[in-house]
Amino acid sequence: MSQTKDAIIVGSGPAGYTAALYLARANMKPLVITGQAFGGLIATTDQIENFPSTIDAEGNVGIGGWELMEKMQQQAEHFGAETLWETVTELKLTNVPGGEHIVMVGDQEYRSKVVILSTGCSHRHIGIEAETRLNNKGVSYCATCDAALCRDKRVIVVGGGDSAITEALFLTKFASHVIIVHRRDQLRASKIMDARARANPKISFEWNAVVSDIKGDDHVVGVELTSTVDGSKKEVECDNIFVAIGHVPNVDLVKDQAALDAHGFVLVEGVTTKTSLPGVFAAGDVTDSQYRQAITAAGMGCKAALDAGAYLQEFE
Ligand code: NAP
Repeated sequence: MSQTKDAIIVGSGPAGYTAALYLARANMKPLVITGQAFGGLIATTDQIENFPSTIDAEGNVGIGGWELMEKMQQQAEHFGAETLWETVTELKLTNVPGGEHIVMVGDQEYRSKVVILSTGCSHRHIGIEAETRLNNKGVSYCATCDAALCRDKRVIVVGGGDSAITEALFLTKFASHVIIVHRRDQLRASKIMDARARANPKISFEWNAVVSDIKGDDHVVGVELTSTVDGSKKEVECDNIFVAIGHVPNVDLVKDQAALDAHGFVLVEGVTTKTSLPGVFAAGDVTDSQYRQAITAAGMGCKAALDAGAYLQEFE
């Protein structure tokens, strides 16, 4: 049986729940469909220090990613948002202004004039065969999830951005040593993260190198590194490898329906969250190839709710 909702939000990260909060406070009853990973990628982050207001009375700064997302969920639900712990299997988006979009969750059909896409991003993969074969056998994309398995182990982190450095620093709490492998001789990470990594005695660097193979039958035992300068190869022993080389937008549900930008992210109109389809709005990392912060995603979620509210008024 089909159910009709005021608004359907696909994805449960900061963009999705901020949109839900604003819509719910405007007397709509949005449905948030969580997807496989509640809270999105930020929910797997150990400590977030740059989300404003996350400081306690004693001056301790930061909040766990999961805790932040639970608070966002609770606040949106306080005003009437609903959460459905399922994954959308298909979107049938209409091109007709004021028409109903159909959101499929298996055999269950939901209908709404408004859909907010906040499906976020997934971890980019290196793209070598051994990475897939040894996934969860020493290859990981989430230090918060798997660092406890690395007690006194030798660990490699691949990447030079803020994610890689955040992962590496967290891993030093468990691992005996962390080697950061980066394809250039300079980090992309912010200065503060760069300085923290360089000052950490447990961290060393392999500059100008990519992981060209991962060694091991049942579990990772080492990697083959290839120099990006002269193509030379060498092997480095390690027990675990964490890949943190950026993200790709989760656009599978809409890539044949909504317009995408040159980087493959959902295209929005100017400073709005309007996609190429009437009544479909996009917010957060799925539409942001540049900033990809929890706070910018939350800001876009707010804009999506306001854009959606204005759109619904046109068709009342
Ligand atoms: P990112 O900034 O895009 O960095 C990705 C890194 O992976 C880059 O160093 C890049 O190398 C490298 N890379 C990309 N493709 C590669 C490949 N195929 N093989 C080897 N290396 C590859 O991604 P991110 O670190 O996930 O950060 C995303 C956004 O989130 C950023 O805006 C960041 O500031 C933010 N963030 C912030 C924090 C924080 O504030 N604590 C924490 C995490 C993330 P190049 O440098 O050569 O391009």
